[in-house]
Amino acid sequence: KVLLASICVAYLAVKWTSPRFDAESLKGARVLVTGASTGIGEQMAYHYARFGAQIVITARREKVLQQVAEKCLSLGAQKALYVAADMASESEPAQVVDFALEKLGGLDYLVLNHIGPSPFSMWTGDVDHIRWLMNVNFFSYIQMAWRGLAALEQSRGSLVIVSSLLGKMSSPFVAPYTSTKFALNGFFGSLQHELAMNKSNVSLSICTLGLIDTDSAMEKVKGVTNIPAYPSSDAALNIIITGATRQLDLFYPWFTYVVAASKDMFPSVTNFIIQNSYTYSP
Ligand code: NDP
Repeated sequence: KVLLASICVAYLAVKWTSPRFDAESLKGARVLVTGASTGIGEQMAYHYARFGAQIVITARREKVLQQVAEKCLSLGAQKALYVAADMASESEPAQVVDFALEKLGGLDYLVLNHIGPSPFSMWTGDVDHIRWLMNVNFFSYIQMAWRGLAALEQSRGSLVIVSSLLGKMSSPFVAPYTSTKFALNGFFGSLQHELAMNKSNVSLSICTLGLIDTDSAMEKVKGVTNIPAYPSSDAALNIIITGATRQLDLFYPWFTYVVAASKDMFPSVTNFIIQNSYTYSP
């Protein structure tokens, strides 16, 4: 109890001392959001639009992107452009960054958020799927980050990585997905140190999300768990604020911080809770 209370106090102390968000700072900001045709990425596009940003959005489905971009313009975006790309490709991730740099004349925010579809089930030996998912969920992130880094350095910009509690804690039914998120956390955690040691202008935020009520997530967990899901629009706004205030990390909802911090202290209890959070009979 004392340990848990200390973790909560530590979390609140970090929150109280974090810088205030100035919505005006996003007016005219040049932003690239990936995975923006649906879910949290789509909601981020709408928030940036309301703040008057200049946005480039990307995903695979061009028609859907076009509709999202039109809505962004109607919400107040200074610019809303889209480019269809497949993040499993070797060349397209870098081309998307080049497109944004050319159309926006630089970049203030690079928000990497996309994920490829992956089954919610026990692993049955499909290594090719994991290899493919690594390309989409991990390798494309590091390619895009590298391609955008010089422009972000110039603009004193922010790189925002959307990750998951499943990048810090393993859980059943998501072995391929959780692997890619652990890889992201490891890589970008290392990059955070290197940017700081190089006194870089670029801020790098890693966002740890719990269950969010996007269609794809809800479809997967339907009938399998009663874990509460949090609203995608609120998650999206919290990610944007984290990037704009140049914080190292976000834990959303707040208790993901407690779960992540306590899992190594109480492994048996945590494993018991995880394994009993799902309806499953072999
Ligand atoms: P969605 O499944 O709703 O959206 C995924 C996005 O990625 C879509 O825009 C999709 O568009 C795009 N995408 C899929 N495959 C590719 C591909 N090969 N190339 C390019 N784009 C692709 O995801 P969420 O909004 O639920 O999740 C967003 C982020 O939040 C992810 O990083 C996820 O890990 C994280 N997160 C989500 C949680 C949740 O419960 N929802 C929990 C924890 C973290 P298209 O099909 O048009 O390509």
